[in-house]
Amino acid sequence: MSTVDADVETPGAPLRESDPPGGHTELTSARLARVGDVEVRRLLPLRRRRSVGAWCFVDHYGPMSVDGVAGMQVPPHPHIGLQTVTWLLEGNVLHRDSLGSEQMIRPGQLNLMTAGHGIAHAEESPADHDPGLHGVQLWVALPDADRQAAPAFEHHAQLPVLGIGGAEITVFTGSLADVTSPARTYSPLVGAEINAVRGGDVTIPLTPGHEHVIFVARGSAAANGNTLAPGSLLYLATGRGSVTLAAGEGARLFLLGGEPLGETLLMWWNFVGRTPEDIIGAAQAWAADSGRFGEVRGYRGAPLAAPPLDPVRLARRSQGS
Ligand code: MN
Repeated sequence: MSTVDADVETPGAPLRESDPPGGHTELTSARLARVGDVEVRRLLPLRRRRSVGAWCFVDHYGPMSVDGVAGMQVPPHPHIGLQTVTWLLEGNVLHRDSLGSEQMIRPGQLNLMTAGHGIAHAEESPADHDPGLHGVQLWVALPDADRQAAPAFEHHAQLPVLGIGGAEITVFTGSLADVTSPARTYSPLVGAEINAVRGGDVTIPLTPGHEHVIFVARGSAAANGNTLAPGSLLYLATGRGSVTLAAGEGARLFLLGGEPLGETLLMWWNFVGRTPEDIIGAAQAWAADSGRFGEVRGYRGAPLAAPPLDPVRLARRSQGS
């Protein structure tokens, strides 16, 4: 998907300054944003937390009816410096990109697009789409050493599932416990969907060197005394060996985490860079149709134009202010 907004800095709730350093938690709220006709809960980035591990963008949308309407229609747009992770709980979405990939995705499957130096893609509800739509759009920042990598696209229909208590946990990227997804990763991380088939407590092992976030996509749950509902994001700092969730039957949650990136990202529109020059160069290449991003074929509609870019503001943000 495309962020649409030029400025992805979000308000979010303030950090709880009283929490002790190390092992602390934070509960923040999504802000609502729109991607075309689809309203999304934007959970990351936060103004004071641009990434969690390498995860730098988290949108959750639906469940919603798209019966008889166009549904998701995101025209061709570019990306740099990241991987897009597309995951559905309900419905179907068609992906097309400038490498020539054309891939329908359904619940339980992964579409993983590595932008590297540059790629363009479009995502849409196909003409004869399912009546419901519910999913997440996630971005993983590429580490500085890999962010100019060649663009790539992967689809994984078979992913490992870990059973813990009454939960079935699908590891769609990275590793959890002794289970590893076949998806290509560039930093130590985990991305998993937790399906509370039976209600009750489930204790999930965590890598202590990783920081994590947990959010609910459907139903309700609690983690470490924090009640979670769609639109809430719970952050867990490094230093934890596990987290215990109390989940209602049928609840669906996501666990995202990784080794703290240790790099300051500069995010603007659909670009993840480090310097204003990274962003300006990508914006100019897209506007000029320079060939850097290639062409997405088959989408009925014009590509997205980038919003106006303010170099002064961009420079200020790159300095962390
Ligand atoms: Mn996109």
